[in-house]
Amino acid sequence: MEFLPFTRPSIDEETIAGVAEVLRSGWITSGPCAKQLEQELSQYFGGRAVRAMSSGTGALEIALGVAGVQPGDEVITTPLSWVATANVILRAGARPVFVDVDAATRNIDLERIEAAITPRTRALLPVDMAGLPVDRDRLYDIARRRGLRVIEDAAQSMGASWRGRRIGSFGDLVAISFHANKNVTTGEGGCLVLADAAETDLCTRLRLQGVVRSPDGGQEVEVAGGKHNLTDIAARIGLGQLKHLEAFTTRRRMLARRYFERFDTDSGCVLPLEDYANCNWHMFQVLLPLARMRIDRGGFIQAMHRRGIGVGVHYPAMHLFGLYRKLGYNPGDFPHAERIGSATVTLPLFPGMAAADIDRVCTAVAETIQGK
Ligand SMILES: *Cc1c(COP(=O)(O)O)cnc(C)c1O
Repeated sequence: MEFLPFTRPSIDEETIAGVAEVLRSGWITSGPCAKQLEQELSQYFGGRAVRAMSSGTGALEIALGVAGVQPGDEVITTPLSWVATANVILRAGARPVFVDVDAATRNIDLERIEAAITPRTRALLPVDMAGLPVDRDRLYDIARRRGLRVIEDAAQSMGASWRGRRIGSFGDLVAISFHANKNVTTGEGGCLVLADAAETDLCTRLRLQGVVRSPDGGQEVEVAGGKHNLTDIAARIGLGQLKHLEAFTTRRRMLARRYFERFDTDSGCVLPLEDYANCNWHMFQVLLPLARMRIDRGGFIQAMHRRGIGVGVHYPAMHLFGLYRKLGYNPGDFPHAERIGSATVTLPLFPGMAAADIDRVCTAVAETIQGK
């Protein structure tokens, strides 16, 4: 049987031909395709300003710059994310202040945020884990009352929504990733959605060396921008992907539903929150019942691999990494994040999967846990 990876992008032939056209056009870096992608994204996000980026990490770095996060500031975030989330805070010279996650959503626990706010807190940086949105009503209520900026790490949220509103179509600064594994991809890439015209202008400058061009051919530089622009080669992939976004999300939701229907509920695994209204099902993550298994997580992943099924780990709790231990974080600080981070596995879920693949994964998981 063919190996089933935990994810695989769906790129159609029209997109492949479109990329070839860009390559033959004589202009392969940021140009007409990147512009068009920004326009189509802006339409998708209800007319808000969008700037395409070479990565989701770049979008987050620029968002922190736009929000004015400075050395000495504190930024409140979750300990359970891809490490880019906390690294960008450190790279801005600020301190990541972790707040434990909620056991059910696996997202930052909004109940605990206010206790972590200090006079140095500048921004909240929540993550929509696996594309399950953080409660935007409560999030923005806290931000408004406490005078804080919000940088949404919506890297995984393309296609997700909150109470009928698309993630990215409202809120403060929203950073999205188009990494190869995300629901919409450009290979590598991302975008930042903004709410303010002056900040959009600053974002444009921070994206590419700070250069502002005048009609007479002159140039001016007032901020030291970086290099985060998206190539037309990548943008052309994104244009081909956007057309399928709705179908991708529908398909992912259907496959997730099948997991819930077919999963062996006696296995002891903890399944994700069953949310079909808001979640885009970026990943399907279960917590292994390690205490009653004869193998550890590594053994489980290897055994699944031998059965021809790819399994991922997203993610170990970040505060346990050496870099973050040096900031004074210790094991035991965030029990939910640690428990989830050490037991989580990502099972295959992507639009190109067949329903029968889900059944195959469910059988393999149940048998592997039983030690068969
Ligand atoms: C993917 C991801 C990022 C980074 O996006 P890149 O495009 O890989 O730079 C940041 N945060 C989270 C939660 C992600 O999943």
